[in-house]
Amino acid sequence: MSAGRTATRYDLTRDEFGVLLDDEPRYRLDQVWAGLYEQLADPADITNLPKALRARLDGELPLALDLVAESVSDKGDTVKFLWELDGGSRIETVLMLYPDRATVCVSSQAGCAMACGFCATGQAGFTRHLTTGEIVEQVVRAARSAKKSGRRVSNIVFMGMGEPMANLDCVWAATDRIHGDIGLSARHITISTVGIIPGIQALKDLPLPVNLAVSLHAANDKLRNELVPINKRYPINDLLDACAEYLEVKNRRVSFEWAMIDGVNDRGSDAEELAELCWKLRPSAHVNLIPLNSTPGYPTRGTPLKRVHEFRDRLEELGANATVRRNRGNDIDAACGQLAAGQTVKLTTKRAATEWSP
Ligand code: SAH
Repeated sequence: MSAGRTATRYDLTRDEFGVLLDDEPRYRLDQVWAGLYEQLADPADITNLPKALRARLDGELPLALDLVAESVSDKGDTVKFLWELDGGSRIETVLMLYPDRATVCVSSQAGCAMACGFCATGQAGFTRHLTTGEIVEQVVRAARSAKKSGRRVSNIVFMGMGEPMANLDCVWAATDRIHGDIGLSARHITISTVGIIPGIQALKDLPLPVNLAVSLHAANDKLRNELVPINKRYPINDLLDACAEYLEVKNRRVSFEWAMIDGVNDRGSDAEELAELCWKLRPSAHVNLIPLNSTPGYPTRGTPLKRVHEFRDRLEELGANATVRRNRGNDIDAACGQLAAGQTVKLTTKRAATEWSP
């Protein structure tokens, strides 16, 4: 719970709920908790509770996210939710239904301070951290929507707006709740970072073996300093050491995200440098290639798909694992890097791709 803000429904821990239900029989806590986290219900719909208690909980513990818009793409298989938070800032959550899984992409901050030029969230700048309740509620509300289509959410990726490692306390408290109370396996939860080393180190010492994804995008410091400015503070070699430690302690796959930018990071030399970094984390580093999605503030286009596949083939030839990530929700600005929640993004001056060429 953050100071100064009224607690919302999914802010409270089970113990805090226990205090709230102090004057009720003890089994009520189990009923409320199962209602909120297993049935994903509003208190009004938890029918085994007395009416007066339902009304009290509804009144005392409002939801945190006000739905502003719901956009649907991919024939209903991708749904983007635009929420307004207390204080007026806006965030987005994306639900993606696949034949074998249902994934929720959650935001950890309103905006982002990391300033990656090719990312719409980075272009918009930072507004504030999300509370634990605001993160958990994104999962609950998206899971309710999935339930309407007869689907159960199986995977969570912290790949929405914001830098999870910059808000790790709340991200971790939310992860714990998503795992322990909503019931998702830690192996199906992925935390993605721009490469904040102290965050990776802290995550390594936390109990659950969640997946770690690192937004690498460049395999040498010169190019990465340009694309991902935080690299100046946490350069590639140190980042790789932190990933290797994570891998060793958790025995979970570490993956690298690589947004393919035409003429910038998609050349043969990039594949070679990247493969070399992957070897350092062998046998487990895995590269996710994402053709760059268009954003208002970044002029360079994504690598054409044919060359994305050639890059993947080259990586595999060099002994690195790589897949091309299927793109979802481009037409509703729900794809990687496009989440801006309607905020104005800064237009960077036109930078030629050659600026990054060695
Ligand atoms: N801040 C975290 C979480 C965001 S995850 C992180 O950086 O990992 C969103 C992913 O989409 C990141 O890998 C990000 O680098 C990538 N991305 C950002 N803008 C993109 C774009 N325009 N096209 C494709 N991927 C993009």
